[in-house]
Amino acid sequence: MDVGEITVNKSSAEAKQIIKAFEFAKKAHAGQKRLSGDDYFVHLFEVAKILNQLELDATTIIAGLLHDTLEDTQVTEQELKTEFGEKVLFLVQGATKIKNIERQKKERKATSNSTLMKMFLATAEDLRVILIKLVDRLHNLRTIEYLPPEKRKIIAEESIKIYAPIAERLNMGSIKGEIEDLAFPHAFPDKYEQFMATVEPYFQEAKSYATKILPVITAHLKENGITDFALDSRIKHYYSLYKKILRSGKAPDQIFDIIAFRVIVGDIGKCYEALGVIHKKYHPLPGLIKDYIALPKPNGYQSLHTTVFFEEGRVVEFQIRTVEMHDHAEHGIAAHWAYSESGKPKTSSADFKELEWVSQIKEWRAKVREQNPDEFFKNLKGSLFKERIFVFTPQGDIENLPLGATPLDFAYAIHSEIGDHYYGARVNGKMISIGYQLKNMEVCEVLTSKKQKPTSDWLKFAKTNEAKRRIRGFLAG
Ligand code: MN
Repeated sequence: MDVGEITVNKSSAEAKQIIKAFEFAKKAHAGQKRLSGDDYFVHLFEVAKILNQLELDATTIIAGLLHDTLEDTQVTEQELKTEFGEKVLFLVQGATKIKNIERQKKERKATSNSTLMKMFLATAEDLRVILIKLVDRLHNLRTIEYLPPEKRKIIAEESIKIYAPIAERLNMGSIKGEIEDLAFPHAFPDKYEQFMATVEPYFQEAKSYATKILPVITAHLKENGITDFALDSRIKHYYSLYKKILRSGKAPDQIFDIIAFRVIVGDIGKCYEALGVIHKKYHPLPGLIKDYIALPKPNGYQSLHTTVFFEEGRVVEFQIRTVEMHDHAEHGIAAHWAYSESGKPKTSSADFKELEWVSQIKEWRAKVREQNPDEFFKNLKGSLFKERIFVFTPQGDIENLPLGATPLDFAYAIHSEIGDHYYGARVNGKMISIGYQLKNMEVCEVLTSKKQKPTSDWLKFAKTNEAKRRIRGFLAG
């Protein structure tokens, strides 16, 4: 473990603090082992490494090193605050809080996964807490085979149901992909085996088809004047294919993007030229030609996409782009980092896989590089969960409501029957009026009466469309 790996690109003052946290965590966890037999500290170092690859700020890397100290060592909150400051303490506390929620959930089966997810998001006041937890979970999944099977299943299911959707919501598509693929065999072992038995042959076949057909594509492009290009293929994530098959009811051989070919050329003119050359020989499927060069995706992604009837009666997708577009799509800002670190581009598929998602977060960060990190994460969280509040039932279930929602909205959110028979509500044991504006994290108890029915007056107090629709429907008879 070389501490230099987690101080890359940091100022000397920041590096000093990171090294201090490195030594501190190592000492605090001394003697603790993971089930793999590794020192516990290995986990903390790996988490810090991934956070650093994401180019997160020093505070986050320090908090990553220390994220398990409050829970698993003698270290106190006061000590963290004195040694590393309030912000680090705040992030470690946040990560510990989420750990506690997860533990409670395991003990109290009643809490649903969606409730846990909402609590997770509501608890993490700073998005960096969520990033630390996502990376923590990612590393735990990479080493999941050392856990006993029952534990593996719980962690894997939770990863698919909670962590992957959070990663998705944060637009971290490849973290999501990696979490799902690592968790899939342990979360649903039977389905996984069944799926792999059905689909593995297609994957294998697709891979060997790709290998076999690459020279055919190369020859065709060259014969038609495209001489300077790189050609490569990518395979779809397993779990994402599994879901696509479930959703569409299609057979695996009807899923056209299990494999896609990428043609990388020198400039934009050559992209269109290459597209023409491909269409000249291979007939495109209507409606599937997409020009993301002229019309980039909102995240800046650029490429030409086309799906064509190809060799041996297969339908395949082509993605055509310039070197710059490819770098951007694969690595984003990470491209620069990847080049500078090793002195040459990283091209092995394992590196690609990692860089793909590393890049997403970097891009996202690069946009606000100028901002102070504290401000940035606060704003981002604000815009993600803008004007939403979370209100609990006394049983601990949560409803996600718009700011300004009333107990009537809350009642309808729980169940339409509860809304229809709304009679009153209590917050913290005190009766509140029907027009009361609920606050984030309040516990609200709804009282109902069989005799009560919706009135036109209620429309004044209903803020959510769901409640309004239901009340209007009732009034309309
Ligand atoms: Mn951990």
